[in-house]
Amino acid sequence: MCGIFGIYGSPETTDVAHLTYYGLYALQHRGQESAGIVVHGSRNETHFHKGMGLVSKVFNERDLEGLKGKVAIGHVRYSTCGDSNKRNIQPIIVQFSRGRLAIAHNGNLVNAQELFKRLEEEGSIFQTTTDTEIFAHLIAKSKQESFEGRVQEALAQVKGAYSLVLLYNGVLYGIRDPNGFRPLILGNLEGSYILASETCALDLLGAEFVREIEPGEMIKISSKGLESSRFSARKESFCIFELVYFARPDSHIFNQSVYQARIRMGAQLARESKTEADVVIPVPDSGVAAAIGFARESGIPYEMGLTRNHYVGRTFIQPSPEIRDLRLKIKLNPIEEALQGKRVIVVDDSIVRGTTCKQLIKLIRKAGAKEVHLKISSPPIRYPCFFGIDTPDRNQLIAATHSLEEIKDFLGVDSLQYLSLEGLRAAVKGNKHSYCEACFTGQYPVAISNAQWAINE
Ligand code: AMP
Repeated sequence: MCGIFGIYGSPETTDVAHLTYYGLYALQHRGQESAGIVVHGSRNETHFHKGMGLVSKVFNERDLEGLKGKVAIGHVRYSTCGDSNKRNIQPIIVQFSRGRLAIAHNGNLVNAQELFKRLEEEGSIFQTTTDTEIFAHLIAKSKQESFEGRVQEALAQVKGAYSLVLLYNGVLYGIRDPNGFRPLILGNLEGSYILASETCALDLLGAEFVREIEPGEMIKISSKGLESSRFSARKESFCIFELVYFARPDSHIFNQSVYQARIRMGAQLARESKTEADVVIPVPDSGVAAAIGFARESGIPYEMGLTRNHYVGRTFIQPSPEIRDLRLKIKLNPIEEALQGKRVIVVDDSIVRGTTCKQLIKLIRKAGAKEVHLKISSPPIRYPCFFGIDTPDRNQLIAATHSLEEIKDFLGVDSLQYLSLEGLRAAVKGNKHSYCEACFTGQYPVAISNAQWAINE
């Protein structure tokens, strides 16, 4: 998953680089592997700075000073296509016959392999292993006269999820795929136009929310102002998992408050649940809002049963089994005083592999909980995501390979309950046709070849 940001500065704006930096800071939860900013300078030159790691590590004051200009785009990355390495840091920058183009992408193309193959056979040389570079090749190779025509021709060939910000010869573009899988927001800061993955980036800058970019819409922001065009009919397959887990709770995406949606998920889960207990505790931070909703609806007191250490980066953690255990303990520690001798309801947003969850339950029991009842504010994740959420293949998704009873035993809980799909639908705005629920149902809004998601039995 990734976070994207773009700004077209008003004539008075002097420093788009710092604004982009803070925008990326607010979007850090969407990607922690690498970050980058590209700025279009006043003499048509391009400045950029990119690096591996968190935004705060990648940029220092001197780097930002060097990024002078009026238009910028930025990106934070968590890889779902291509390795996590320096080569793949976005925005990617290319030079082609018509000028210089920088691209920042959130999403995942489902026909990337086909396109890589075709383009390479036609002579393209890829500099990265990301599907994002495919856009650059398709745009560069197009025979259309206008840049917009080239982009449209490129978009007609790609399938999948893409929210994009492009910086082309000093003009800023924002594009959202026809299904609108990933969010993309338009804001305004005293005459400067802003594009961002989530509204939390606007809040940090003190910018106003204008509207969401529509699925199938391309907007162009230049010295002439903002122009909107449509490259495809609007469908709606908003990623429901953004509301469950991914987006920040203070954001408004898909025309709703993420926080309130999660509160409603928790309340709905409580209505579907009949467990007697002494306390409700969240798994912070992702389970907090749903646990509040659960506690309110059930009348069971809400307690802080786990403390989270917020200073744990993701980037430097080695994925070896021994360190995984340590990693969890660095991140979360139970508060015995809230748990000792209690019947505890633990609320979390989702179970993916189940491995983190299992260790957590062990810690909660060790802290003295008498009973542990796990409530999950989304249905079982049984299918991988091909549209940008980093879920493992089906073999590693515990709910794809185990029954509810088996998962309960594996986790070591007294009871386990997931939110029903109907309950999740009732908690979010719109109807079931507005969302991609493929991770729960296996019904992918854009066709996926079977080979990509078969379980090896
Ligand atoms: P596990 O118990 O190992 O399945 O981990 C589940 C936890 O990971 C939940 O608390 C979720 O909040 C979180 N989670 C869900 N989806 C993802 C994802 N795509 N990447 C990282 N963490 C996730």
